[in-house]
Amino acid sequence: MAKVYYEDSVQGDQLEGKKIAIIGYGSQGHAHSQNLRDTGHDVIIGIREGKSADAAREAGFDVFPVSEAVKKADVIMILAPDEIQGDLYKNEIAPYLEAGNALAFGHGFNIHFDVIQPPADVDVFLVAPKGPGHLVRRTFEEGFAVPSLFAVQQDATGNARDIALAYTKGIGATRVGVLETTFKEETETDLFGEQAVLCGGTTALVQAGFETLVEAGYQPEIAYFEVLHELKLIVDLMYEGGMEKMRDSISNTAEYGDYVSGPRVVTAETKARMKDVLTDIQDGTFAKGFIEDNKNGFEKFYGLRKEQQGHQIEAVGKELRDMMPFVNNK
Ligand code: NDP
Ligand code: MG
Ligand code: MG
Repeated sequence: MAKVYYEDSVQGDQLEGKKIAIIGYGSQGHAHSQNLRDTGHDVIIGIREGKSADAAREAGFDVFPVSEAVKKADVIMILAPDEIQGDLYKNEIAPYLEAGNALAFGHGFNIHFDVIQPPADVDVFLVAPKGPGHLVRRTFEEGFAVPSLFAVQQDATGNARDIALAYTKGIGATRVGVLETTFKEETETDLFGEQAVLCGGTTALVQAGFETLVEAGYQPEIAYFEVLHELKLIVDLMYEGGMEKMRDSISNTAEYGDYVSGPRVVTAETKARMKDVLTDIQDGTFAKGFIEDNKNGFEKFYGLRKEQQGHQIEAVGKELRDMMPFVNNK
């Protein structure tokens, strides 16, 4: 069993007296900065002018251009989109880093795939909450947190690990549990999870199920309820008590069907494809494609996004959700 760190595991506060610059004020950025401020830390925001900068000012933060924030800070947490971090680092961060600073990330991508190569005299660590930013903030306000990972890539000061742990405590994560990982493990497992299961696997499964029913002549509205809407209820049960609790809660008919039909859909062949996805992540093929497409104005990415937005399940779903005020569709 992996070692789990809680409040008591973190002695003192290695962030005391340090200025923390959060670079970016989006999903993760707003949550990290507000949580850290609420736990008594000195936080400033480094960002370009725009909607996020306005939101940060509205929340009462001092906002600076990225280079200014880096100059002022001891700990620099980069929470800008992964695909722009390389250029942002080169132009607005690297020239202003000082020996003994800590450079931090919410995801290991750019360090692991060598897009960013920090100098030897700074600490490099990551703190990755295992959940979206709005939950990182909301659960903190409720007195809990989202479990998080941390990892140290480079320990220049001899304190990198303690600073990283203090950071996890500062965002509240040690209230519920923090695990240590490496940049390699965090990056590869995070990408695999979102591609094969959480995002890619699930959307492909839902879509194929919807199409199968609609092509067989069933009403799209009924198909939507059966394969998308109810998914949340099932996933909630799995979240609370694993497959066992979910299977305990569904009918015997559903449970029997689960055992006999699930493996007919997700087969040994599917698992072999998952291994291919993992290989592409591990050998850098995925990262290279993503980075190159970004250089190309995200032509492929935006094309795929547009194609998916046009799927029938989205139009049907929008109409049905409008009829269900209890579903939060803001
Ligand atoms: P978002 O897209 O939500 O936010 C990005 C922020 O960066 C925005 O405030 C944006 O401001 C700002 N930004 C964009 N371009 C620039 C620029 N050129 N200079 C300065 N600021 C800029 O990102 P996420 O929070 O989703 O992701 C941030 C990091 O956290 C990533 O490394 C991601 O992998 C990681 N992560 C994300 C999770 C999530 O749930 N979203 C979960 C765990 C980790 P503007 O409004 O001006 O565009
Ligand atoms: Mg991710
Ligand atoms: Mg049913």
